Amino acid sequence: MRVMPSQGGWIEVIVGSMFSGKSEELMRRLRRAQIARQSVAVFKPLLDNRYHATDVVSHDGTRLAARPVDTSMQILGMVGDADIVGIDVAQFFDEQVFEVAVRLDDDGKRVIVAALDMDFKNEPFGPIPHMLAVAEFVDKLQAICQVCGGPATRTQRLIAGRPAKPDEPVIRVGAQESYEPRCRQCHELPSARPSLDLAESALEGALEGPSAIARPGIEYVAR
Ligand SMILES: [Zn+2]
Repeated sequence: MRVMPSQGGWIEVIVGSMFSGKSEELMRRLRRAQIARQSVAVFKPLLDNRYHATDVVSHDGTRLAARPVDTSMQILGMVGDADIVGIDVAQFFDEQVFEVAVRLDDDGKRVIVAALDMDFKNEPFGPIPHMLAVAEFVDKLQAICQVCGGPATRTQRLIAGRPAKPDEPVIRVGAQESYEPRCRQCHELPSARPSLDLAESALEGALEGPSAIARPGIEYVAR
């Protein structure tokens, strides 16, 4: 059983693959706090505009008023006297978002963060490794693997129904892109350039250097 602090601030992080229910869990916690008449402020990055400009929206359609912000530092000036600060889709925020969480925590606030922990290449997502390190409590949720039915911890990116390569462009005009939860065994990531011969491969390496390694991207929408 988890013992929660009776006073002071702390950080809770909810991570997992897409379709693991992170936003729903964030909202469940925020709603329970509202029932206890604690004041709640919720933020999300401005770029996550899938459904509605000002609400955190989960897949079951329930919503809670949230404010989109450009940078994580803006949160500090907007929390006011809220007891609890929610941050949704935090993986799309800048690197400072974990420092913001720590400052709110130091201020005596309860901070609840929901985020993807890995991108579709299974690389740690942006600022989330730091967030996990400074958090008091971490919950890693699983979805259900769409292939085998086992516990899914990874997000499969599909383009026109086929597993996306790591260097796949962000936008493929005319191609149907989708995501599904998968387990470690069923997740597929085809190699980027399987058909190159050795000479061509060496030339490419010389031209592109380390920058050819893709950084954890913001190339897909989070759930
Ligand atoms: Zn599986």
